[in-house]
Amino acid sequence: MILKKGFLVKFFIFIFLTFSLYGIVKTKAVTNIIFMVPDGLAISNVTAARVYAFGTNKQRLYLETLDQIGYQSTHSLNSMITDSAAAASAWACGEKFNNGEISFHCKTRTSPRTILELAREMGKKSGLVATSSITHATPAAFGAHVSDRDCENEIARQYIVKNGIDILLGAGKGIFQSSEMGADPCGTYGDFIELAKERDYTIVNTREEMFRSHKTAKKLLGLFRHVSLTPAHRRAKVKKSQDEPRLAEMTGVALQFLETHQKGFFLLVEGSQIDWANHANNLEYQISETLEFDKAVKVVLDWVNQDKNRKESTLIVIVSDHDCGGFAIKGPWGKTLTQPGQYVNAGWIWGSHTGEDTIIWSQGPYSSHLGKAIDNTDIFHIMKAALYGKEYQKQ
Ligand SMILES: [Zn+2]
Repeated sequence: MILKKGFLVKFFIFIFLTFSLYGIVKTKAVTNIIFMVPDGLAISNVTAARVYAFGTNKQRLYLETLDQIGYQSTHSLNSMITDSAAAASAWACGEKFNNGEISFHCKTRTSPRTILELAREMGKKSGLVATSSITHATPAAFGAHVSDRDCENEIARQYIVKNGIDILLGAGKGIFQSSEMGADPCGTYGDFIELAKERDYTIVNTREEMFRSHKTAKKLLGLFRHVSLTPAHRRAKVKKSQDEPRLAEMTGVALQFLETHQKGFFLLVEGSQIDWANHANNLEYQISETLEFDKAVKVVLDWVNQDKNRKESTLIVIVSDHDCGGFAIKGPWGKTLTQPGQYVNAGWIWGSHTGEDTIIWSQGPYSSHLGKAIDNTDIFHIMKAALYGKEYQKQ
């Protein structure tokens, strides 16, 4: 009897330890991943935008309020200076690519599955939102595989036919309808808007149509301009732009569209034109696009903060693909501080990308792995571990 009692005690201790240990080791998979890209943004751009918005008081931009801050190296497979195609492909697939390649290795003609495709295989929904054409390099690397970033007709075709991406919002009407004369470098052309209709997409071309349709649409394709959306600082001057949604509005609609799906989603949101502003060495353009992007970050933060469960099961990653222009703040010098609404004195070293590291802001499960000095390819592996609820092992 005494022996039996001892055995029972040991047995219960064993069971207790096994379950507690399981609780410690077991990691919970995330339901949603929201991946946000301020394309071509450097930390100096954040400073300039913040000083313009708030002066030098302690107020921060929304993107600066995320829990974890780290940084990533950005070089591509064949160049110290990456382009957006290789950079986004590194995030999407966890491997280095040559500049110009969209999640496709030209040399071996192989295309690893992207994080969006892995999420889809798990029954999750997917969405791409951008202020450029929706087939531009950054969103493309998540939803397509092509040898050349200029194969935008083929990218459009793959979005609709191959991946059936649930919500696509941005510009690029012209790219979705091309004739044989306008075939892309991959030789693809066609009417992909018609094709999208056949595949259960609702097509919208204005912000009003977008707000009217997103609650009932099965899939949604929003193409609001021919090539790219009107830059934020030009909206007041371009009358037609009133029909276009803002980045924050598209982000809100995408979240409302995707949130009803119980298995969760992968959503990419790109502020595409911060990069273009830096290429153009235009400070007003750069700051307004950074602040425009930050409003989309606010929409995402408000959305996760609405619900404790949602917050605990959503990984948010905000990361720029590369710096552009080598922007630096040079003043004002002396006993002067810049006031809200004033521009800092600044300059660029040139009108192309540079090879410096870029900041990663993140929060939610697995984000502690992102608050470090890592490579852009590591971000894929961290997101993959988060999707599967596996422990993250550094590659
Ligand atoms: Zn660029």
